Amino acid sequence: MLRTHTCGELRAEHVGATVTLAGWVHRRRDHGGLVFVDVRDRNGLTQVVFDPDAAPAAFEAARDVGHEWVVAVDGSVRPRPAGQANPNLPTGAVEVVASALRVLNPARTPPFEINREQAVEDGTRLRYRYLDIRRQRMQRNLVLRHAVTAFIRAHLNARDFLDVETPILMKATPEGARDFLVPSRVHPGRFYALPQSPQQLKQILMVAGIDRYYQIARCFRDEDLRADRELEFTQLDLEMAFAEAGDIMALNEDLFVALVAAVAPQLRIRQVPFPHLTYADAMERYGTDKPDIRFGLEMVDIGPDVAGSAFRVFADTVARGGRVKAIAAPAQFTRREIDAFEAFVKGLGAAGLAWLAFDADGAVRGSVARALAAPEIAAIRDRTGAGDGATVFIVAGDAPVVALALGRLRGELGRHLDLIDPGELAFLWLVDPPLFEWNAGEARWDSVHHPFTSAVPEDVPLLDTDPGRIRAQAYDVVCNGYELGGGSIRIHERDVQARVFALLGLSDAQVQAQFGHLLTAFEFGAPPHGGIAWGIDRTVAILAGEANIREVIAFPKSLSAVDLLTGAPSPVPARDLAVLGISVVASSPPDATDA
Ligand code: ASP
Repeated sequence: MLRTHTCGELRAEHVGATVTLAGWVHRRRDHGGLVFVDVRDRNGLTQVVFDPDAAPAAFEAARDVGHEWVVAVDGSVRPRPAGQANPNLPTGAVEVVASALRVLNPARTPPFEINREQAVEDGTRLRYRYLDIRRQRMQRNLVLRHAVTAFIRAHLNARDFLDVETPILMKATPEGARDFLVPSRVHPGRFYALPQSPQQLKQILMVAGIDRYYQIARCFRDEDLRADRELEFTQLDLEMAFAEAGDIMALNEDLFVALVAAVAPQLRIRQVPFPHLTYADAMERYGTDKPDIRFGLEMVDIGPDVAGSAFRVFADTVARGGRVKAIAAPAQFTRREIDAFEAFVKGLGAAGLAWLAFDADGAVRGSVARALAAPEIAAIRDRTGAGDGATVFIVAGDAPVVALALGRLRGELGRHLDLIDPGELAFLWLVDPPLFEWNAGEARWDSVHHPFTSAVPEDVPLLDTDPGRIRAQAYDVVCNGYELGGGSIRIHERDVQARVFALLGLSDAQVQAQFGHLLTAFEFGAPPHGGIAWGIDRTVAILAGEANIREVIAFPKSLSAVDLLTGAPSPVPARDLAVLGISVVASSPPDATDA
C-alpha cells in the first residue's frame, strides 16, 4: 500500500511512530512560519505540520499544494501542543510532523467546496458527482446504505434464504409502468424488456423448489420522474413457499426492527408489532393508503351532522353520495394561514375549505359559523373532539377529492404545528386492499397490486359477481407516510390465474403470449407462495433523515431523467441502429440532455 495508516486512524498510542498517509488536501493554513495541511480520506482527516527548519523541501512542497490535490506524506506522529488538541476529531490528539510530501496528482479548483457543508445546486452536484461524493453527507449516506444491504443479506442468509440473480434482459413484466425496451441484434425487430421487478421469475423459482428466495434487485420503470422516483431503483425482493401473509409480514417486521437497531439506533420505532390498518380504514381516517401516523389529526366524517342542514353545500353533498369530512387542529390560525390552507386544498381539486374556530370564551368563529345551525356546530364539535382553542377544517365533495385534499391538509397541519417527531419511525402494515379497481377509461378492471395477487379466500366467489368488492391478500409496509413496498400471497393455481387475466381484459392469445410460461409452470406442481418487495432507496433515505432518495443513490438521474455525469441518454451512430434494424423517426433537440 502507498500508505501505512488511513487518515482516520492515528491516536495518542501512535505517538513516536513513523507513518505514511495518503489522501486529499482538505485544508491548508500558513501559520506562524509553519504550514498545516489536513489530509483527508474516507476514514477521516489528520493534521500534518510542515516545519521549514526540520524538512525544508517538504515545507516548500506543502506551500504549493491546493485543495483536493492528492498527496502522500511521510512523517512521525507527535502529540498536539498543549491546548491544541481537538476533541471533536477522532485524530485530534495528535499531528504528523512531515519529513516528505509527494504530490500524487494535482487538482483543478473544484466547482464547490468539499471541506464544508454548503448548499450546491443539484445539477452541479450531479455533474461533478465524484466531488459531491467526497463530501461528508454523501460519504455518510453511502456508508449507511452499505450497512443496510450488508445487514439485510446477513439476516436473510441466516434464515436459510437463497440469493438468486435474475436477468436484466427479460420479457416484459407488468407492474403497472411502462417498460424499457432493449432491441435484439440477433433477432431484429424483437425486444427484451428491463424488468419492472423480478416478480414472475421469483414465482417460478418457487415452482422450482427454491422455497426461500431473496435478491437485492434493480428494477426499471419508465415513468415520469418525481422527487421520490428514479427510472431504476433497488428493492429487497423476497419470496417464500408454504408461507401465509402473516409469516411474510412477521419475517419482514423482524428484519426492520433488527435493521434499525443495528444501523440507526438513534431512531425509535413507534410501535412493535407494527399496527395493521385496513385499506378502508386508512382511506377513511387519513385519506391515503400510506398515512404518516406519527401524529393524530385524523379525519372525521361529519356527514350525519350536516345531512339535514339548511347550508345547502354540505347537505347537497351528502344527498348526492359525497362526503363531508373534518379535521380538528388544536390551534388557532391567522386569516393568512387559513387562506393559504384553502389555496392548498383548492390546488388539489377541493371546491373550498370551510372552518370553525372554537374560542376559549365559548364564541364560535369561522367561514361556516353563521351558515350552520348551533346544534349542527355542537354536533361537529362533539364528533371531532375539538377542544377550546381548536380549529376545525371541513372539506365537502366526492370521496376521492375529500380524501386527497383533507389527507394532504392533515400533513400540512402536522408540519405546521410541529407535531412530527423526526426521531420516530412509524411503521404500519396496510392490509386488505381491493384486488381490482375499475378502469372507466378502458371499461375493464385493473389490478391494484399486480395480476398475480390472490384474493382473500372468502371473497373468491365475488370474481363472478362483484370484482370491485374483492379484497386482496396483499400488504404494504408504510413508514412515516411513505409506502416502502408491498407484497401478496400469489395465485398458484393455473385456472384462477387464467380467470383473473380474463377479468383484466386479456384475450387468450394475449395471456398465452405474455404469461404462457407462468401458466405452464403452474401446471407442474406450484406450491402456495407469497412474497414482498420494498425499496432500499427509500428505506435508507428515511434512516439517513433525507427527504430525497437521490441523496442515498451514488449516481442518480436528474429530475429530467438525464445522467448529468455521463450525458446519457445520448444519440447513437446510424450504423449502430442499422444493425438493430431500427430507424429513428423522432428525436430530441441536440442539447436536450446537456442541460
Ligand atoms: N413485485 C412487486 C413489486 O415490485 C412486489 C411483490 O409483489 O413482491 O412491487
